[in-house]
Amino acid sequence: MFKGSPIRLQRVDLGDTTIELPIADLVGLRPGPTLVVTAGMDGDEYAGITAAYQLIERYTALDFAGRLIVIPVVNIPGFQAECSHNPLDDKFPKYIFPGRVDGSPTERLLAVISSLASEADCWYDLHGAAITEGVNPYLWLHNTGVAKVDALARDLIHYGIAENILYERAHFGLKPAALAKQGCTYIVAESGSRRTELSDDAARHLAWLTSTMQLLGLIDGTPERKETRVMTHVSFITAASDGLWQPADIDYSFIKQGTTLGQVTRLDGTGEKIIRAISSGTPLWWKETMRLKKGDILLALGS
Ligand SMILES: [Zn+2]
Repeated sequence: MFKGSPIRLQRVDLGDTTIELPIADLVGLRPGPTLVVTAGMDGDEYAGITAAYQLIERYTALDFAGRLIVIPVVNIPGFQAECSHNPLDDKFPKYIFPGRVDGSPTERLLAVISSLASEADCWYDLHGAAITEGVNPYLWLHNTGVAKVDALARDLIHYGIAENILYERAHFGLKPAALAKQGCTYIVAESGSRRTELSDDAARHLAWLTSTMQLLGLIDGTPERKETRVMTHVSFITAASDGLWQPADIDYSFIKQGTTLGQVTRLDGTGEKIIRAISSGTPLWWKETMRLKKGDILLALGS
């Protein structure tokens, strides 16, 4: 991939084991803002990981202003086990913030990432569907009440950077609000799905990143203004029991209330239950594979 890689492998002690975390710390020739880009927080989301390596390659060769720190695979244990969570402690890195240097494996891992993000103007987190899911590409932004931090989110909405944008109120104490207090805008980018081409999904991530870097001032230029659908609320349909999930073959671009989403069956083959959409909206992500565990999200619907 690289001749003389700009990526260093930093040893991180997770308690039971030590991992090598790939980090590219690129410094531009002019002063400017700091952008932290992470991928593979969910260890089985490959479009974001692909885009992160391409981003490093691009800005190792091109000039920019400020500092660009890219961690292309955060959840190394999850990546190795091909799953979203960290199998060392069964925690999801995306839900841990700010972590603890003497905590569980995932808490120790996030302590490293959080300390990088605390110095940054923006933490841009690349996601997509896990290997069991479908996703409609969208940017997930937060209204934090901190003017400087929210300005970037509002610019991204103004220019219609993504075809779908979820602009949610940041809940007190959770990651987006806690980062806002440190002057850092937290952005989640979702592109990548079982049904779509990895290279297309990675290219979309890179296009969104280019626009974000322009708006932040790391690179010159102004994004082209496009139409976007802005949602402010997300609702979930979850599995009430373990069993089998047979998703219906439906158009996931928009779902109307009452649409049949699929059928749940118990493992003994009985208890068939048809699951229908309880409201209308834009599907953000949904489950596409058969194994069903109580609490699994069958559909996340933006409105
Ligand atoms: Zn994810």
